[in-house]
Amino acid sequence: MTDGQQRRHDELAANLAAVRRRITAACAAAGRDPAEVTLVAVTKTWPADDVRLLAGLGVLDVGENRDQEAAPKAAACTGLGLRWHFVGRLQTNKARSVARYAHAVHSVDSARLVEALQRGAELAGRRLGALVQVSLDGSTARGGALPEDVPALAALVEAAPLLDLRGVMAVAPLGADPVAAYARLATVAGAVRAAHPAARWLSAGMSGDLEAAVAAGATHVRVGTALLGHRPALG
Ligand SMILES: *Cc1c(COP(=O)(O)O)cnc(C)c1O
Repeated sequence: MTDGQQRRHDELAANLAAVRRRITAACAAAGRDPAEVTLVAVTKTWPADDVRLLAGLGVLDVGENRDQEAAPKAAACTGLGLRWHFVGRLQTNKARSVARYAHAVHSVDSARLVEALQRGAELAGRRLGALVQVSLDGSTARGGALPEDVPALAALVEAAPLLDLRGVMAVAPLGADPVAAYARLATVAGAVRAAHPAARWLSAGMSGDLEAAVAAGATHVRVGTALLGHRPALG
């Protein structure tokens, strides 16, 4: 390693230890086993070198929100045993590309997208995990399906031959109380799980609110800033 790489390695290792301590403490407070919570490192805007360093530190679940950035990064990191989580808004014309490398798409919010991902999985000849994204702010403008539309969408995913319904995902609304928002999400997740017992994932929590998400039952926290640092303004 160069000195620069060594410094970045040490910085990521320290950040990772701090994030793991937060997850462990949140689990202890909630009476949960930390082994139930997967840390997804959201590496958007950060280079493939950072993904490799994190992999070396044992972080194999990686999140990205734009296909234009994720596809080349995933290609540059093949052979590391990574699982790529697509967590951003996804247009149907990008579904085919995402289906080639994603382990799971967390942001499924329309019947058209279910169809496009199924088709993409067929073309790629592989199965694909899928989570229904729930909007918690009463609007679909920022992505996500309204809670009342989630059961039907989950059933559509379940019926798609190459999609594996994993559960639900949400982003806490800006400025909202995350405890209340994630409590609503937990209710939606419970309904999906009742209808589809294998759909056990609850993807919630970011750098600022992972404790509230863990308290509400999150199985996947998506952490960017607390691990990698502040992104440049565009991101
Ligand atoms: C960027 C992003 C995250 C990570 O956010 P941080 O606040 O940097 O931890 C999580 N989820 C989604 C959907 C994101 O786009």
